[in-house]
Amino acid sequence: MGLSLDGKTYVVMGVANKRSIAWGIARSLHNAGARLIFTYAGERLESSVRELANSLEAEGTLVLPCDVTSDEAIATCFTEIKEAVGTIHGIAHCIAFAKTDELKGEFVNTSRDGFLLAQNISSFSLTAVAKEARGLMAEGGSIVTLTYLGGERAIPNYNVMGVAKASLDASVRYLAADLGKDRIRVNSISAGPIRTLSAKAIGEFNSILNEIEERAPLRRTTTPEEVGDTALFLFSDLSRGITGENIHVDSGYHIL
Ligand code: NAD
Repeated sequence: MGLSLDGKTYVVMGVANKRSIAWGIARSLHNAGARLIFTYAGERLESSVRELANSLEAEGTLVLPCDVTSDEAIATCFTEIKEAVGTIHGIAHCIAFAKTDELKGEFVNTSRDGFLLAQNISSFSLTAVAKEARGLMAEGGSIVTLTYLGGERAIPNYNVMGVAKASLDASVRYLAADLGKDRIRVNSISAGPIRTLSAKAIGEFNSILNEIEERAPLRRTTTPEEVGDTALFLFSDLSRGITGENIHVDSGYHIL
């Protein structure tokens, strides 16, 4: 029992480019010997995700579309995965979206559409994916999603995404309660701020990074590699007793 994922298959959802946290997770899993299946949101991202997947030079890597706003797209994606590999051992859910103009100013101005959109893509998608993937994890499995401190505290500008993360955090606990009897564990990683495509949408993101460098116990910002290695632990048997948990990988900032 250890950190080797040899002979195991994981679905990594949410790679957009090489800065994506999902890509950090993919590299950690690949280095541990896992077979990877990548899913991407829309045609616009297909070529960059394929290029990154090919760069791993790994046998059996698959790249499939999966827009999580569509139940049909999720069902089709997991049917294709089942036909291709039969069994999977886990899912990295690294997906979120909110309208840029709702990630600045006062939360009280959030629109109904913007609220529902953020909840749909950033929170409900975990449950929708877990439902379709459950039957493919016949040997047990591990689902890992990504959350942020803004779901636990009111953080300026995070606004509607903070409420979506709070709902995602609660979903982790309810899914863990449901799926434990199938030997499927569900956990989240609360990552410190990392400069990615999605993060660019958050107002005054640079000042959040500066604050971490100045005040976090480790005095540095979080890297996708650090998140990737914690995900590797959560996917491996070393974490077999952990479910419904949230691990902060944020240089310790959350204790302040
Ligand atoms: P990213 O932009 O690289 O990844 C976000 C992904 O969500 C993209 O690949 C995008 O295509 C995907 N996505 C959006 N709408 C989708 C849809 N309808 N269907 C399928 N996929 C869709 O940014 P990231 O920072 O790597 O974000 C990954 C996760 O990490 C998100 O949940 C984010 O909230 C979380 N997170 C990020 C930070 C940070 O500071 N970057 C901190 C904590 C948590």
